[in-house]
Amino acid sequence: MGAKVSRGTPDTIAAIATPAGRGGIGVIRVSGSLAKHIMLGILGSTPEPRQATFGAFQDGAGAAIDQGIALHFSAPHSYTGEDILELQGHGGPAVMARLLRRCLELGCRLARPGEFTERAFLNDKLDLAQAESVADLIEAGSEEAARSAARTLTGEFSKRVHQLTDALTALRMHVEACIDFPEEEIDPADRAAQQIKLEQIRVLRADLAREARQGVVLRDGLTVVLIGRPNVGKSSLLNCLAGDEVAIVTPVAGTTRDHVRATIHLEGVPIHLIDTAGLRDTDDPVEKIGIARTWATIERAGAALLIAEAGEMAGRSEAEILQRLPANLPSAWVYNKIDLYRPSGVSRGTLRSGRDVSVFVSALTGEGIDGLRAWLLETAGWHPGSEGVFLARERHMMALATAESHLESASTTVAQYELFAEDLRLAQMALTSITGQFTPDDLLGEIFSRFCIGK
Ligand code: GDP
Repeated sequence: MGAKVSRGTPDTIAAIATPAGRGGIGVIRVSGSLAKHIMLGILGSTPEPRQATFGAFQDGAGAAIDQGIALHFSAPHSYTGEDILELQGHGGPAVMARLLRRCLELGCRLARPGEFTERAFLNDKLDLAQAESVADLIEAGSEEAARSAARTLTGEFSKRVHQLTDALTALRMHVEACIDFPEEEIDPADRAAQQIKLEQIRVLRADLAREARQGVVLRDGLTVVLIGRPNVGKSSLLNCLAGDEVAIVTPVAGTTRDHVRATIHLEGVPIHLIDTAGLRDTDDPVEKIGIARTWATIERAGAALLIAEAGEMAGRSEAEILQRLPANLPSAWVYNKIDLYRPSGVSRGTLRSGRDVSVFVSALTGEGIDGLRAWLLETAGWHPGSEGVFLARERHMMALATAESHLESASTTVAQYELFAEDLRLAQMALTSITGQFTPDDLLGEIFSRFCIGK
């Protein structure tokens, strides 16, 4: 444990910070003590910090690789806290590759994914929750998610965590001061006050957990399995649900999304829809692998939509798929094409009977779609109209839950100061793992490896 270990003078790192491909400009980013040396080698001079300087970028023989703008920031006043150089050249893959190679010749090494942000974290420029939100902001698939990630980046979430840890620190100091006194000298009013303070902290934590949960929903969304025969209107339903919002398939590091048919956003919450249309018996080995993979995803899905035409029953293949779904998976029957029936012919709206939900819709006219949208958002755990959400991760929820288990234990140990103090300390440790004061190194590695190169 203990994240901020001094690692001696780190290497100078370099990476192409702009996406692969062609663009108006491309940016090479360099961070570390060699930044000025690189500047001298490429530009032939070291311009003033924070001033855009136009010049030729030269190779080792003095020939021009490109011409563009150089920007440099001196330590500690930079993103990483180290000397930084940014070279803005023309955004072509070959010219960027040559410029990067020149940086390596001059002593840099290639940056690992997320290494710039990791250095910013290690140099106290950002805490861990903020560093994670950098990746989340880049990956955000909806405006709402981007707005919320930006709130976490500016420190809104961390500020709330700090309020909690500060309250815990104050209580711990009080309790630890009491440990040295004999039992009979302790004023009963003190114990009562500590109990009240503890309960206030638990309420604060619960509020924070509720808000953070909304942030997790906004980040991760809900994976929904679509089951239904061809022609029942699955594609039409998707388009109708997505409305004007463009369906974006967001690749998530470490997961294959090839079985995801589309990702739509409802109030900014990503709903990843997995199609079961391709799940059929086959001898083709490649198709078999794809099908096995789809099943693995279905078994981890958060909900299922069973789609049929109004007035019809599900067929045999749907029944087979249904049987293999986890028993407690939230699911709803969606009866489409109600426009083909007179209002008296089929049910309308959303019917609930215990856990069974039936939604009657028309993808053609849009009737009933609001009910389906509401069910999906409710199942995702989203409360419509949630304001001021900060993006959060499952990791943060686990830390908040661990903190609560220690606080709950503390509520039973108020009368035994040593135990009480220890429970409070453990709760505080759990909370500080969110902002990264106490975070195992391997977890840090895991977090930053999911960033893109150059960030
Ligand atoms: P999928 O094969 O399940 O993806 O079905 P499609 O979305 O391609 O729809 C199949 C056919 O049903 C198309 O001709 C659609 O225009 C039609 N369809 C889909 N939804 C509705 C609906 O709500 N009402 C009516 N009348 N036709 C629909």
